[in-house]
Amino acid sequence: MRTPFIGGNWKMNLSLAEAAQFIDEIQTELPPSSEVETVLAASPLFLQTMQEHNHSPLLVAAENCFYEDEGAYTGEVSPKALSEMGIKYSIVGHSERRKYFHETDEIVNKKVHAVYRNHMLPIICCDETMGRYEIGDHISWMVNQVTAAIRGLDADDVKKAVVAYEPSWAIGTGHTAPADAAEEGCYLIRQTIADIYSDQIANQVRILYGGSVNHENIRELMKQPDIDGVLAGKASLTTDEFTKLANFNH
Ligand code: PEP
Repeated sequence: MRTPFIGGNWKMNLSLAEAAQFIDEIQTELPPSSEVETVLAASPLFLQTMQEHNHSPLLVAAENCFYEDEGAYTGEVSPKALSEMGIKYSIVGHSERRKYFHETDEIVNKKVHAVYRNHMLPIICCDETMGRYEIGDHISWMVNQVTAAIRGLDADDVKKAVVAYEPSWAIGTGHTAPADAAEEGCYLIRQTIADIYSDQIANQVRILYGGSVNHENIRELMKQPDIDGVLAGKASLTTDEFTKLANFNH
């Protein structure tokens, strides 16, 4: 019922030439979009070139965008311009944005609204630190984060969102969360959405796990009932690894 979603997030990696070469190389390696939705988020500087090279089911996405469409916001990425480029998804609220650029839940919520206003869909990232996990505060932390991110959305919009559970203790560390812990985080996100909207709405939302996913651990993660896909950082940087993720069920 929920199409699996395999997402990559390049962050501030690769050169423009490498980005183009990557897209050229994976053309024939990806499953059809009816089977798996494959999405690769990159710097706005790369998006046009990636799209020009892309003739495959891959969707090119933004890693971030601003909450205003236009105006005097030097250096920001306009969601309106992304939409004009034909971009369908933007990541919003990645833990690195929250940590290094001080994005609050309120800012994330404004960005989520900006994405919908511009006819795109958000990949909303929710993080969780080991400190919170250890003091047993992670459940209310996650519930609050999800609630704040989707505040004010119509049910019709919420059901099309993609939400990622990304414990920051697993991001970029090489230590993925055990499958049952990843499932617990994703289940919590789904329950939070169900409590605010309904089970029927929550059951349509695709929920991803992110944090040191690779071709060796993806199968176990994808077997979990509330994990509909993954968001991969490092593993999305090589064609070999990203292709294996996209073909996880073969
Ligand atoms: C990420 O940054 O969203 C991420 C999951 O990174 P990695 O896969 O490298 O842990």
